[in-house]
Amino acid sequence: MSSGVRQRTLCGVNPLRSLILAAAGNDTIRRVVATAPVSRDVVRRFVAGESTAEAVEVTRRLVSVGLSVTLDYLGEDTTDVALADATVRAYVELLDALHEEGLADRAEVSVKLSAVGQRLDEQLAMDNADKICAAADRHGTTVTLDMEDHTTTDSTLRVLGELRATWPWVGGVLQAYLRRTLDDCTRLATAGSRVRLCKGAYAEPPEVAFDDAHQVDLSYVRCANALLAGDGFPMFATHDPRLVRVIGERAGFYGRKPGSFEYQMLYGIRPDEQLRLAQLGHTVRVYVPYGEQWYGYLMRRLAERPANTAFFLRALATRG
Ligand SMILES: Cc1cc2nc3c(=O)[nH]c(=O)nc-3n(C[C@H](O)[C@H](O)[C@H](O)COP(=O)(O)OP(=O)(O)OC[C@H]3O[C@@H](n4cnc5c(N)ncnc54)[C@H](O)[C@@H]3O)c2cc1C
Repeated sequence: MSSGVRQRTLCGVNPLRSLILAAAGNDTIRRVVATAPVSRDVVRRFVAGESTAEAVEVTRRLVSVGLSVTLDYLGEDTTDVALADATVRAYVELLDALHEEGLADRAEVSVKLSAVGQRLDEQLAMDNADKICAAADRHGTTVTLDMEDHTTTDSTLRVLGELRATWPWVGGVLQAYLRRTLDDCTRLATAGSRVRLCKGAYAEPPEVAFDDAHQVDLSYVRCANALLAGDGFPMFATHDPRLVRVIGERAGFYGRKPGSFEYQMLYGIRPDEQLRLAQLGHTVRVYVPYGEQWYGYLMRRLAERPANTAFFLRALATRG
């Protein structure tokens, strides 16, 4: 999931979204929002906190109500080897803490290769991701590599393939908005292969991506069919009620029982639906971001949906 402010714009632009995204790039607004007392409450709706301890606490709460978790240490596009190292250390510390708290069987981590050096050197990102995988393996849990913009897709899939040679449980992400993705789904739908399918979150050119929301939804369904028909473990990341219904129906068609695929949603988004699906016996994994670099991620969540924007403005007006 992108934590930056690159925003994809399908048909129909919410003017507040443009405003919020413009604010996201403004340093003065960033300073005001980041330090305003109200920010803490608003941030808390979508971000677990800044520290490992806070991430573990939110994980414990979600697990206690029957949900599973994947944790994202916020940050991306690192062009500094020391920062990439610090990200690896943060993940290892988190995995150790999840283990110590007895949560590692229900919580894994999501990693952006750009946060561990992909833009500097693919091999560096590969080595850093390998260290995180080794820590996950020690504690009996898994890692999923987030997918970023299309210029990184081939590199990320290459690293995924290499990591899976050692750690076959490493998951990948495919984005339904990319025209190539149905082929990738078919190729990756092999035994033991964990694949998260999402719509895609980056602004992409029409040569590589569908630019119409309906086309993206149709692609999502085609890709879901390919994953469900194969032997892998599909992870359906969407809040879209229509897609959730279609996935349920298609899973039945392919004879998929709960436990042979999972649903994934973001922390703070449609929490009631997360619980409803879990109560039906499905695995529902909540994507929980945490870390000091929460500002860009928060702005994206607010910009994505008018109701979120209203929530933010109301909070500023009444508590600021
Ligand atoms: C677990 C997870 C991991 C992800 N990982 C990646 C990744 O690695 N790479 C990447 O590019 N993208 C990733 N994404 C983001 C994804 O690509 C989409 O940008 C994002 O999920 C929005 O798409 P959507 O499927 O939820 O549907 P949308 O088209 O955004 O929304 C469809 C419908 O869902 C419902 N809905 C959406 N938001 C809300 C809300 N806040 N409250 C109530 N209802 C709502 C509404 O009915 C809405 O009409 C991830 C998303 C999730 C959930």
